[in-house]
Amino acid sequence: MKVLDLQCPASHVFEGWFGSEEDFQGQLARGLVECPVCGDKQVTKKLTAARLNLGSARAGEGSAAPAASASSSAASAPATTPPAPQPPADMPVALQAAWMKAVRHVMANTEDVGERFAEEARKIHYGESEERGIRGQASPEETRSLLEEGISVLPLPVPKGMKGPLQ
Ligand SMILES: [Zn+2]
Repeated sequence: MKVLDLQCPASHVFEGWFGSEEDFQGQLARGLVECPVCGDKQVTKKLTAARLNLGSARAGEGSAAPAASASSSAASAPATTPPAPQPPADMPVALQAAWMKAVRHVMANTEDVGERFAEEARKIHYGESEERGIRGQASPEETRSLLEEGISVLPLPVPKGMKGPLQ
């Protein structure tokens, strides 16, 4: 099955499903392809190579090589090229940058209460202390009991270089 982006002289764009490129050409020659909007039979193939390539790759059409959609008979070449995929090697760096930013944001907007974290979190939760963002150390047991009391705590791993102010 081949999905073609088609266009009539009135610039209506629509999709046509054909068994093959030849099937499309044959139906077109016999006047069987018409615009669903205005019924015009002067239908031409709209070249969107990037999209067609993606489509055939996803559908697993082994016979439809990417080059097949780059028909030389059509009027214009595709204006857009697909975006270059990001090299996977770049991902950890980008994630790390976002994570560092998040950590810095938390550190800039919270009060360091150190080892009194669990105590302070409880006080804030029960209205005994001013409502504010805090950070500090809590043991896994403390964290668990805070969560059981309905107090939201967020474990945040901190990069080694930034540990100083937290300890
Ligand atoms: Zn039309």
